[in-house]
Amino acid sequence: MKNYPKIIAFLYVWVFIACQPKEALFEDAICIQNISTIDPIEGLTKKQTIVIKDGKIHKIVDSADLLLSKENTIIDGSGKYLIPGLWDTHVHFAYIEELAPRMFDMFLTHGITSVRDTGGKVDFVKKWKDKALANPTDAPRVMMAGPLLDGQHAVYDGSKPNLPELGIGLKDVASVKEKAKMLLSKKVDLFKAYEMLTSEQLSTICKIASANDIKVTGHIPLSMNAISASNSGMNSMEHMRNLDLSCASNSDELLAERQKLLANESNLSGSELRAYIHGLQQEKAMKNYDDKKATEVLAVFKKNDTWQIPTLTLNTLFSGKYFADAEYQKSYLLLPDSIADYWFTRSNVLKDYPVSEKSQLTTEFNYKMVKKIHEKGIPIMAGTDTPIAYLTPGLSLHEELSSLVKAGVSPLEVLKTATYNPAKYFNMENELGSIKENMWADLVILDANPLENISNTKAIHAVIKQGKLYNPKMLTQMLTNLRDN
Ligand SMILES: [Zn+2]
Repeated sequence: MKNYPKIIAFLYVWVFIACQPKEALFEDAICIQNISTIDPIEGLTKKQTIVIKDGKIHKIVDSADLLLSKENTIIDGSGKYLIPGLWDTHVHFAYIEELAPRMFDMFLTHGITSVRDTGGKVDFVKKWKDKALANPTDAPRVMMAGPLLDGQHAVYDGSKPNLPELGIGLKDVASVKEKAKMLLSKKVDLFKAYEMLTSEQLSTICKIASANDIKVTGHIPLSMNAISASNSGMNSMEHMRNLDLSCASNSDELLAERQKLLANESNLSGSELRAYIHGLQQEKAMKNYDDKKATEVLAVFKKNDTWQIPTLTLNTLFSGKYFADAEYQKSYLLLPDSIADYWFTRSNVLKDYPVSEKSQLTTEFNYKMVKKIHEKGIPIMAGTDTPIAYLTPGLSLHEELSSLVKAGVSPLEVLKTATYNPAKYFNMENELGSIKENMWADLVILDANPLENISNTKAIHAVIKQGKLYNPKMLTQMLTNLRDN
């Protein structure tokens, strides 16, 4: 037994080595260490390690439980916050065609990794959608509606620069069916119903959508009230448009008046007729706001699961005047020169406009309704309407998040409106919109906590799109390129 001490010594060494924590190596991966994650459902979790591989979130673990080999690509997440990539759920690539080629980078540099295009010429928007599909790490995901499906007298008919041809005039139910079939062949992700539709046309659109398993969003048609639009199967509503007309004590009277006016005896254009009706009825309706009526309407939305995209920043633009802020205006430098010049000029003219009584009423109504909608548990999605009304692609989404907080939605719930909710809207909640293993790695690293102050969503340190890291240097370079071109 001369070798006995040697064997003991060997066993000691072996046990010592075996008990050492093993260093983990993840090849072709990015490891973010010691970061606070903010999942829109679970909330904040401190000191997490996230391993990103093959475009997805490969592993999430307490940093204390994983010793990373120095060979890994490691990002130090100390003092930083990780949120899911953001959505802007109301954008128009086709509103200013010249601007479209910049929109991908404007979105990505502002943490927006998915967008929903809510209206434009289908072939134009599809071109950008296809480009995004072909380059999923270099572009935000694009979901698209195709054109606004409008009634006989279309509002966005291409007759003026501020009325580009985003819409299409449909004279009857048969033309609705024909158009819907064409759009389905172009693989639209949803339909967008517009204000001049008849109730028969809207219900046809909703039936076709439901049979093809896609959603219908839109403006409540002027020919209907909010309850009948929801009951006919509209899945979501944009801007809360025309909701004021249904929440008034005299809503039935207003509807009867509209239905007469829609016969359009003076043969106005669609936009003129809509403007005439809005001018005649909106202020009257808001002055006759009836909380009981509003509660009835929202109960129907809740029952039918009719989601809302309030575009609160846009709706309150003449009182909120986001465009008047010098810091906000710096974002115009990312636009092509001719557009930037126009936006600077217009913003500085509009900022001195007095706030009218109607603007004040509109602002009060909008904030009140968003709060009420949220309290009823009706899902909200964050959307802007960029690039309409000097809403800069990218930055404007952060304005909307702030507006929603101002309306009384908590910062965590607001993050949900721009992450989990849009993913769920498109039945993608198992792939996107929260921080879980096996989800697409669409993520944003922030330098400050957005739960403490929602404007910290602008403190972007890095962006990850389907596994590709855009570090601070790359983001700065992209912004410089936009400014210089
Ligand atoms: Zn829009």
